[in-house]
Amino acid sequence: MDTEATGHAARRAALAAQLRARAKGGAAPLGLGKQSSNLFRDRHEGAKQRLDLSDFCHVLAIDTAEGWVDVEGLTSYETLVAQTLPHGVMPAVVPQLKTITVGGAAAGVGIEATSHRWGLVHDTLLEFDVLLPDGQIVNCRPDNAQRDLFFGFPNSYGTLGYALRLRLRTLPAKPCVKVAHLPHADPAAFFSALEAACQHEADFVDGVVFGPRQQVLNTACFVDEAPWLSDYSDRHIYYRSLPDKPVDYLRVQDYLWRWDTDWFWCSKNVYAQNPLVRRLLGPSRLNSRTYTRIMRWNARWGITRRLARLRGLHTESVIQDVDIPVAQAPQFLAFLLREIGILPIWVCPVRAPLPQAPFTLFPLTPDTRYVNFGFWDVVESRQPHAAGHFNRLVEHEVMRLGGIKSLYSESYFTPEEFGQAYAMAQYQALKAKYDPAGRMLGLYEKCVLRA
Ligand SMILES: Cc1cc2nc3c(=O)[nH]c(=O)nc-3n(C[C@H](O)[C@H](O)[C@H](O)COP(=O)(O)OP(=O)(O)OC[C@H]3O[C@@H](n4cnc5c(N)ncnc54)[C@H](O)[C@@H]3O)c2cc1C
Repeated sequence: MDTEATGHAARRAALAAQLRARAKGGAAPLGLGKQSSNLFRDRHEGAKQRLDLSDFCHVLAIDTAEGWVDVEGLTSYETLVAQTLPHGVMPAVVPQLKTITVGGAAAGVGIEATSHRWGLVHDTLLEFDVLLPDGQIVNCRPDNAQRDLFFGFPNSYGTLGYALRLRLRTLPAKPCVKVAHLPHADPAAFFSALEAACQHEADFVDGVVFGPRQQVLNTACFVDEAPWLSDYSDRHIYYRSLPDKPVDYLRVQDYLWRWDTDWFWCSKNVYAQNPLVRRLLGPSRLNSRTYTRIMRWNARWGITRRLARLRGLHTESVIQDVDIPVAQAPQFLAFLLREIGILPIWVCPVRAPLPQAPFTLFPLTPDTRYVNFGFWDVVESRQPHAAGHFNRLVEHEVMRLGGIKSLYSESYFTPEEFGQAYAMAQYQALKAKYDPAGRMLGLYEKCVLRA
């Protein structure tokens, strides 16, 4: 791995040169130049000084004995997993979409079916190096002078600095995964079973709500061998298999990317679940990368909106992930079914591992199990509503039930609500310390005002 270390040093030197050249550039805020994104807000972006960090996409070192991997910030999880699995390990939490980068998941919020045991992606961080807005690079650990930035970086969405190198916890992985799908017809029983599954030995726990009387709980374990192997990267569609197959076996990499092929189920919006369209697209294009491109193009031209207007309907995108304390999960689901109506809904239990890490900008109540609800679609209505009407309903209900919302998509919080939900008093202290000249945008401007 020495050549990796040398390459990393060379990329840092090239970055220093890029920064020196930019020091003379105007007053526009800094922005991150990268090739993919999983942000889902329509932005009203002003001029930015783009910093191109796309070369920071290498895996630097894998220590299987100590259980960590050193990786550059713009490395995608697809690349990272491909390099760790041959060593018999995987990152402790692997977000489901292949293009999500390690730095993006640390600066945003990343979750997966291992989160019942290992927490969110930021709970798996051991240390990282951050490029500050003034060009300094600082090392952040839970026990050094940059401890405040270590705990303040998650959910800062590129407003305090950019992660260049991160050390993440890894887990031993076996070649295959056995998944059991347990059907339920009552939400209260479903959430109790979800919570009970987290106390047992399962390596992975998640679930899908197909309707008020149809939920499926998925629990999975690593296995060395499998009697058969399913493949959902081509003709077959993973989420459709859940109600039909009590037990399934997948190769570990196919399990980790099980939701990517059909973007959970959102590929239906681009007709990719039609057998003919599926065959035309082929396995190389059946992935979140393709759908993201199509959806951005659609957002730019407003095709879905215009077609709905022709049918006399008003539309609003509701693309959200929210975390709700498990005791309130049935109540939140009842609200979603009644007021929003998006189905299916992905659910994933999460609890930060003890000792509880106090992550400043994404505060979860210690020792409490949360359930992540992911719901991503367009809500149609006959009556016109104020912009963000349905998203506002969601925000109010999340706050009422003591939950917290991810900020990768649209938000409508007032400054007061936002300040309370995301610890803005502490954020302002971090901002004053690490970006005193205000070279990067603020979190509220970026996530709510869409700057
Ligand atoms: C439709 C959809 C589904 C999703 N599903 C899941 C899911 O299933 N599981 C899950 O875990 N997450 C999911 N996410 C959330 C995703 O993990 C976060 O949005 C994450 O921040 C995206 O990372 P990215 O690498 O694509 O970064 P981008 O989308 O490019 O950037 C996200 C933000 O992070 C900042 N950023 C990016 N890289 C860095 C860096 N190196 N240092 C500092 N800041 C940086 C950017 O400035 C930006 O503000 C989903 C998002 C969408 C839109």
